[in-house]
Amino acid sequence: MSQPIIKILHLYARDMNIYGDQGNVLTLKKRLEWYGYQPEVIEYNPGDKFPDDVDIIVGGGGQDSGQNRTQKDLLSIGPKLKQLANAGTPMLMICGMYQLFGKFFKTSSGEIIEGIDLFDIETYGKSERLIGNIITKSEEFGDIIGYENHSGQTFLGHNVATFGRVRMGAGNNLIDASEGARYHNVIGTYLHGSLLPKNPAIADFLIEKAITKKYGQFEKPTINDTIATMAHKFAMRRPR
Ligand code: GLN
Repeated sequence: MSQPIIKILHLYARDMNIYGDQGNVLTLKKRLEWYGYQPEVIEYNPGDKFPDDVDIIVGGGGQDSGQNRTQKDLLSIGPKLKQLANAGTPMLMICGMYQLFGKFFKTSSGEIIEGIDLFDIETYGKSERLIGNIITKSEEFGDIIGYENHSGQTFLGHNVATFGRVRMGAGNNLIDASEGARYHNVIGTYLHGSLLPKNPAIADFLIEKAITKKYGQFEKPTINDTIATMAHKFAMRRPR
C-alpha cells in the first residue's frame, strides 16, 4: 500500500540556504519517513511555477545579495504565501527569509529590500554583525539551540508574537531579548545550525500541523530519538 504523501516546498533553495539550513529539509524528510509518510521535496527558485499543492514550506538564510535576487519573485508569490499561512499551513523561515516575511529589511548600506508583510516586523541592518551560538526559550518548545549570523536587527510590531526569549546570544536585536516571530503556524527565526536536527520538537510541530491539516489526524509513532536528543544536549553546552 502506498504511503500518504506530504509535500515540502523548499523556498529559494539555490539563493537562500546557508549555515546548514538544508538540514531542516532533510530532517523533515527523514522524520516523515519514520512516521510512515512519503515526503516529496519540491525545490522552488525564482521564476518557477508555484505548486498548487504544498503541505510544509521551508526557507533559509542568505547574503543580502541573495535576498535581492529573490525579492521580486517573493513579492509575486506573497499573496499566495499569506493565504496558505492564514489557512494554517506550517512554515519555517530562517534569518534572511524570516526578514523578508516581514515588512522590509533596510540593509547596512541603506538599501530597502521590501518583504511580504506576513510578519509585523521591520529589520534594520547595522554595522555590527551578531554572530555565534544562541539559546532561546519558548513556552511551547522549551530550550531552542542554534547559530546566528546577521547584520539585520529586527523589531516586532503589535500584531505579531515573538517565537522565543533569548537566554544566550542576541536574537532579533540587542534591545528586547526577543527572538523570531510567530504567526499562526508560521515560525520565523534567526537560528541556523541546522535548527531542526537538534530541535526535533520544532520539526514535529511542523509535521503534526501538516498531517492534521491534510489527513485530519496524526497519531505520532514512537521513534528512537536518542541521536537528536544527544545533539540538542551537546549543542546546549557549547559556548557562544
Ligand atoms: N543578509 C541578512 C543579514 O545579514 C541575513 C543573513 C542570514 O540569513 N544569515 O542580516
